[in-house]
Amino acid sequence: MKRETIAIHAGYDGDPTTKAVAVPIYQTIAFEFDSAEHGAALFNLEVQGNIYTRIGNPTNAVLEKRVAALEGGVDALSVSSGMAAIEYSLINIAESGNNIVSLPQLYGATYTLLAHIFPKRGIEGRFAKTDHPGDVEKLIDENTRAVFCESVGNPAGNVADIEGLAAVAHKHGVPLIVDNTIATPILLRPIEYGADVVVHSMTKFMGGHGTTLGGMIVDSGKFPWRDYPERFYMLNRPEIAYHGVVYVDHYGDAAYVARCRTVCQRNTGATLSPFNGFLLLQGVETLALRVERHVENARKVAEHLRGHRMVDWVNYAGFSDNPLYPMAQRYLGDQRCSLLTFGVRGGFEAGTKCFNALKLFKRMVNMGDAKSLACHPASTTHRQLTPEEQQKVGVTPEMIRLSVGIEHIDDILADLSQALDKATP
Ligand SMILES: *Cc1c(COP(=O)(O)O)cnc(C)c1O
Repeated sequence: MKRETIAIHAGYDGDPTTKAVAVPIYQTIAFEFDSAEHGAALFNLEVQGNIYTRIGNPTNAVLEKRVAALEGGVDALSVSSGMAAIEYSLINIAESGNNIVSLPQLYGATYTLLAHIFPKRGIEGRFAKTDHPGDVEKLIDENTRAVFCESVGNPAGNVADIEGLAAVAHKHGVPLIVDNTIATPILLRPIEYGADVVVHSMTKFMGGHGTTLGGMIVDSGKFPWRDYPERFYMLNRPEIAYHGVVYVDHYGDAAYVARCRTVCQRNTGATLSPFNGFLLLQGVETLALRVERHVENARKVAEHLRGHRMVDWVNYAGFSDNPLYPMAQRYLGDQRCSLLTFGVRGGFEAGTKCFNALKLFKRMVNMGDAKSLACHPASTTHRQLTPEEQQKVGVTPEMIRLSVGIEHIDDILADLSQALDKATP
């Protein structure tokens, strides 16, 4: 099936009891065992079934199967936020003494996690000098457990060379983990280019309506964990934290994501609420249509801004003179993400005036909503970073980031025009 169809149908064959066509919300904590023997068999992993919603829930299971299918993975785990997905994807295979090698341009909280929080637990976050795979490779050593990147960086808009990064990661026997939040599987499927794990903030385009936090970890099923019995011992030896299971034996291709579920989620509990799982399912159904309109509107906004006398620069990977153009062309084809940044002529002050004058665009830090949103990263999402750190992740003081929504393009352009007029000295 094509992605448009997968987004509406995958993972759900109907409810056998009620014949409900929409996926039911199984708002229950626990599931009844037929007998002591049945309960024991479930815990011993001899039979499949539901136990407790912190381990798994049937509503969320549909969302997991659907997103796994959209990304071309073997299985997935839903969690309560994108940050929970990123944290679990890494602590599932890294522990004290290990390091994670990352591209330098990252979402603010992800940067903080790697630069400041993991080191307190003995896991070092290493940031490559540039996003060239060669610079990433220089930082990989025998204690590296993953290479991490965003397929399209938030907010810099850089497009990662996934194929090149996968090649250097695999050469050194570690997986490539890709945050595909901004591109979504409609524009780019990292697994097709060698990514081993894909993580998502479902909060953004996937949910699409700015109502629901959620995260997802998709396992490609392709990384050869068995080839590294010492490095990835947690997947290769009996798991003391879960009934002595050997993940690669019991779960085969889906060993990695199974351990995320039964160790990370079961014991630290960043579980997606089934109600939120239901809301995210509604969003995913229209993902392809929405992304199509987002992409089209963003292209028109970029062209409009570029021609405006009050705009200093526009960073949009769809312009052929943009340094991001070749990589974007390679991984996104003729499509571009609906996230773009620009600088108002007159620097910080004019930028603030324009930002404050927006009426249709909401001033907020979210993105990927049906509504058009504007954000000033230097004063919000990336505020806790030092100016040097901001520069490293691609944020400048005058930068305004737009997440172009799916309203009528005439109304979007009119709002930007009146706001830019107000910034005129
Ligand atoms: C928003 C975002 C996250 C964090 O997601 P939450 O659901 O807000 O926790 C991670 N990565 C990227 C690229 C994001 O845009």
